[in-house]
Amino acid sequence: MRYEGKLYRPPSEADSLILQATIGCSWNKCTYCDMYRDKPVFRLRPLEECLEDLRAAGAAFGDEVEKLFVADGDALTMPMEHWSPILAEARRQFPKLTRVSCYAMARNVLEKTDDELAQLRREGLRMLYVGPESGDPLTLKRIAKGDGFDEHVEAARRARAASLALSVIVLLGIGGDRADEHARGTADLVTRMDPAFFSALTVTVVPGTPLATLAARGRFAVPAVPELLRELRTMVAQAAPTDAVFRTNHASNYLPLGGRLPRDRARIVATIDAALDGRIPLRPEGQRGL
Ligand code: SF4
Repeated sequence: MRYEGKLYRPPSEADSLILQATIGCSWNKCTYCDMYRDKPVFRLRPLEECLEDLRAAGAAFGDEVEKLFVADGDALTMPMEHWSPILAEARRQFPKLTRVSCYAMARNVLEKTDDELAQLRREGLRMLYVGPESGDPLTLKRIAKGDGFDEHVEAARRARAASLALSVIVLLGIGGDRADEHARGTADLVTRMDPAFFSALTVTVVPGTPLATLAARGRFAVPAVPELLRELRTMVAQAAPTDAVFRTNHASNYLPLGGRLPRDRARIVATIDAALDGRIPLRPEGQRGL
C-alpha cells in the first residue's frame, strides 16, 4: 500500500486495512484541525493506483482483511467513478470483507444523490464517520466547520435512509466560553442525527492551527476539567438517539466511558457525577493523547 503524509483513522478502525484513495481534506479549514495541513492541496489518488494497491494487498494478505477504511479526511467526496471500481476491487480481493468505512463531511453526503448513496451501500460501504463537533450554531460558525446544524441533520437523515451507519463525533471544550450552549446544542444534534455510534473527544489546541492563534490572543480557552465533565454530563443526560453505542474511550478524554444511549444513561450520568465529586480518578494529564 502506498501512503502519503500522516494517516488518520478512527480508533475503531485500528484493525482495518487503510486505502488512501484521497489525499488530504477537501475542506481543510476547521480551526482546530491540523490533520491535513501538510497536504494543503486536496486531490484524488489516481484510480489505477488505488486498484493496484488493493490488488497488491489482496495478493499479500487478502484472506485476512475483514474491514477497509478509505482515507483521507472526507473521502466520501470521491466521485462514483472512483468509488464503484474501488469497492468492486475490494470485494474481489478480500473475500471476508464485511465493511468499508470512511470519514465524511455533511456536505459530502448532501452532494450525493439518494440513488448514489444506496448504490454505495449495495457495493459495500457501510459506515460514515461524521464529526460535527458541536450542535451549537455559533460554535459551528466559529470553528469554520463548513456545514451547519441543519445540514448535519439532513445528511444524517439521507445516510440512514440509505442504510449507511453513522458514527458521530463531538468535541468537548470546543465551544470555549459557550460551554452550556455547546453541550445542549450537541445533545440536540445527536438526537436529530440519531447515529448508531456516538463518541465524545476532548479538544486539544494544536500549535499552528487558527485555534492556537485565537488562544494566544486570549480569544479561546479550553474550559477547565470540571466544565468539560459538565458538558459531557449534559450531552449524555439530554441526547436521545434511538439506540447508540456511546464511547469516550479516545485518548484525549479525562474520563473513559462506554455504554448505550439511552439505555445506560443513568449509569453513565452517575459515573460522571462521581468523577465530578472526586470519587473516581480522572486520566492523568500526562497520559492523555491527541
Ligand atoms: S473536515 Fe475534518 S479533516 Fe477536514 S479540516 Fe475539518 S476536521 Fe479536519
